[in-house]
Amino acid sequence: MFTQRDISLEEYFNQSYSVEEPESKKQKLDYLYNPPEKSNNTSSGMKAFQLHDILKKCPIQFCQYLKLIASSVTCYCGQPMNLAFRSGMSDGFQWCCKHKKTHCSTLSIRKGTWFENSRLTIPEILWIAYMWVYQYSYSSIVHETDQTSQTLLQWNLCCQEACKLILESKKNPIGGSDKIVEIFEYIVQDERKSKKQNDKKENNKKRKFCALQHFSTNLICFTLENAKSDTVCEILDEYILSGTTVFGNAWNSFVDLNSVDFEYLTMEKEITFYDFVTKTEIDTIEKFWEIAKRQSPGSNVESGRKFYENFYRKSLFFAPDPFITFLKDIAMIYKPQKETYRKEASKEKHNAS
Ligand SMILES: [Zn+2]
Repeated sequence: MFTQRDISLEEYFNQSYSVEEPESKKQKLDYLYNPPEKSNNTSSGMKAFQLHDILKKCPIQFCQYLKLIASSVTCYCGQPMNLAFRSGMSDGFQWCCKHKKTHCSTLSIRKGTWFENSRLTIPEILWIAYMWVYQYSYSSIVHETDQTSQTLLQWNLCCQEACKLILESKKNPIGGSDKIVEIFEYIVQDERKSKKQNDKKENNKKRKFCALQHFSTNLICFTLENAKSDTVCEILDEYILSGTTVFGNAWNSFVDLNSVDFEYLTMEKEITFYDFVTKTEIDTIEKFWEIAKRQSPGSNVESGRKFYENFYRKSLFFAPDPFITFLKDIAMIYKPQKETYRKEASKEKHNAS
């Protein structure tokens, strides 16, 4: 399949990528103090020539493998539909049911997917997405495609919107024994409202609590309603697994954490709070309060769209293949339609005429 060596799509995906996670907690912390300029894993991701080869030879199979488009669709008559070749369509294929020797129903392979409503071909969209993931410069993207700047801008917004939906969908607890979780807090400005509601500016700012499990793409992200100690304790209790080492620069919003909650989290839940500045564990609530009063570095007010993109990109750093990870996440959000429905209204109309 690929130009350098014949390898099937299946083989490509079965190649075992492993995120190189150091064994001990100390090694992990050392790694974070001296992160490499570029993750080793990034180099193992799909190369542009490999993607072009796939898009030339089997774009539909590739999308089906990643669940970006359905692998099977059931007609309302109960029969499985066929993926039929259609020379006049840009995708080249369409779901078709010919049960009872008449056309029961047809369905676009894009129905429900990320590709729906776009006039670009699926390979064109995937190539733009690839360049977005690898942060090609605007001029490089213009050079590599035949698209107008308006189309490219639209797809940039589509990718950013996908980041938002992906982040909001992740609700599984993260961390665990010997795992390291970094906590971020962002003040996010809703740019759509800010112009209209200048007088109520504070209402447009939302506090986002985000946590990322290092050496994995596991993350959680949600809006904080308030920063009271019970909320903070509840969040850590619900979303951070026991045994996790937690660090970050967002301690000032935890200033209300009380000693009972701190004891519960550290003793029963076995969460270790780690201070990256002093390189020590925060083992008493007094020490915690002291650190919580420390000024957090820099301004962290970001516009909504950019915030989602930036935080999602942070999680891609440890992805064995950032582009494939992005597409798999897309497939979780934009689910292809897997069945067709009888058009009652049109049928009645047809019968009446
Ligand atoms: Zn049918």
